Amino acid sequence: MKNVKGAICVNCGAEHEANDTTLTCKKCGGILEIVYDYGYIKKQFSRENLAARKDFSMWRYMDLLPVEEGSTIPPLRVGWSPLYKTDRLAEMLGLKTLYIKDDGLNPTSSLKDRASAIAITRAAHAGKDTVACSSTGNAASSLAGGAAAMGLKSFIFVPERAPKAKVTQLLIFGANVISVQGNYEDTFKLSAGAIEKWGWYNRNAAVNPYLSEGKKTVSLEIAEQLDFKVPDYVAISVGDGCTIAGVWKGFKDLFALGFIDRLPKLISVQAEGCCPVNRAIETGSPITWMDENTLADSIAVGAPRNGDKALAAIRESGGITVNVSDDEILGAMTLLGKTCGIFGEPAGVTGTAGLKKAIEKKLVPADAVVVSVVTGNGLKDIVSAQKAAGTPLSVPPDMKELEKAFLSCTL
Ligand SMILES: *Cc1c(COP(=O)(O)O)cnc(C)c1O
Ligand SMILES: [Zn+2]
Repeated sequence: MKNVKGAICVNCGAEHEANDTTLTCKKCGGILEIVYDYGYIKKQFSRENLAARKDFSMWRYMDLLPVEEGSTIPPLRVGWSPLYKTDRLAEMLGLKTLYIKDDGLNPTSSLKDRASAIAITRAAHAGKDTVACSSTGNAASSLAGGAAAMGLKSFIFVPERAPKAKVTQLLIFGANVISVQGNYEDTFKLSAGAIEKWGWYNRNAAVNPYLSEGKKTVSLEIAEQLDFKVPDYVAISVGDGCTIAGVWKGFKDLFALGFIDRLPKLISVQAEGCCPVNRAIETGSPITWMDENTLADSIAVGAPRNGDKALAAIRESGGITVNVSDDEILGAMTLLGKTCGIFGEPAGVTGTAGLKKAIEKKLVPADAVVVSVVTGNGLKDIVSAQKAAGTPLSVPPDMKELEKAFLSCTL
C-alpha cells in the first residue's frame, strides 16, 4: 500500500507494519491506528479530481483507504448515503442548521457496512475464504452480507439478545450463526477463541485497525456533501467507540490534506444505562466497565474495545458528552420519523436524542451548524420501534364507524 506508512499503537506509540497478521500492538496489546503518507496521497488526490469521480460509493476515497493494490472491490454499494438538510426538525430543536446523514440506507442498513467492506476486501486479498466476528448485530449482518456478495464464508457470533431482524439478516445471507447464551462481552471472548483456533479473518472492531478506516468515509462524505464547509458539531452514538474514532479520523485526514481548514467538535452520545466512554471523559479517569442496560442494543457495550481511540477523538475535538435515557431514545425515533421521514433503530437515533438534550442544556449554541448521523435503520428492531410508535386506529370496514372513530380521537 503506497499510501500507508504503517500502524502506530494508540496506547504506547510503538510503530508497526500495516498487515493482517499484526492487528494489535506487539509490545503492549493496544489497538493500532493506520498512518498515511499524506505527501504521497496529495500528489494524486485533490478536491478537483475528487469532484470528477463518478463512483458514488465509499470507494471514491480509495486514496485514503488501507487497501492493497490490485484488490477486488466487493460488489455491494456501500456509502454515499444522503445528507438531508432538515429545517423542520432544526426548528423544533431550536437550531439554525441541522443535517441528518442517513446511514441506515447502506446495503445491510447500517453504517457498519463501511467497515465490513474494508474487512472483506482485505480478507479476499489475503486469500482467506472465511471471515468472522462477534457483534451486537449490525457488524454481523454487514459482514455476512458483504461476504455473501464476495463469495466468502462467514462465522458470526451474536449475544442471545440480538434483535430477530438482525439475526434473520445473517441467516438470509447464509452465515454460520452462533447465538451465544451470554452478553456481548461473553460473545466477544468466544469469537476471539474460535478465530484463533480456526484461522478465520478477524473482523472484530476491537482488534482490527482497518475498520475505523472504513467508517471514516462517513466524514469524508459529510465534508464533500457540504462542499468542504466543515460543520461545527457532529453528533454520533457510541458503543465500542470505533465509529466515533472513524468519524474523527476522516476529518483529520481531510485536514492533513488541506481539503478543509478546521475540524468539527464531536458530540459523543451514549445511553444512560451503558455509558462507560462518556463517564471516563466526564470523570477524567480510565474506562471502567458497566452493565449493558439499554434497549439500544447496538450500543449496549459495557466493555468498549476501542475506548482509547474514542476518548482521544472526543478530547482532541474539544467535544462534549451526552447520556440519554431509553425514553429519550424512543422519543428521537418518532421525532425523526415525523419531521424527516427517517426511520432509525434505537442506537441509530441516539445521536439525535443526544443533540436534542445538548441543545436544551445549552451545550450547543442555536446558531451552530450540526450534522447528526443516523447509524442504522429502524426496521432492524421492530419491537423497540413499536414501543415508540404505539398502535394504529382500528376500525371495522364501515364508513359510519370510521367517522365515529375519527371523532373520538385526535388525528
Ligand atoms: C455499532 C453501532 C454504533 C456504534 O458504533 P461503535 O463503533 O460500536 O461505537 C452505533 N449505531 C449503530 C446502529 C451501530 O450498529
Ligand atoms: Zn503498544
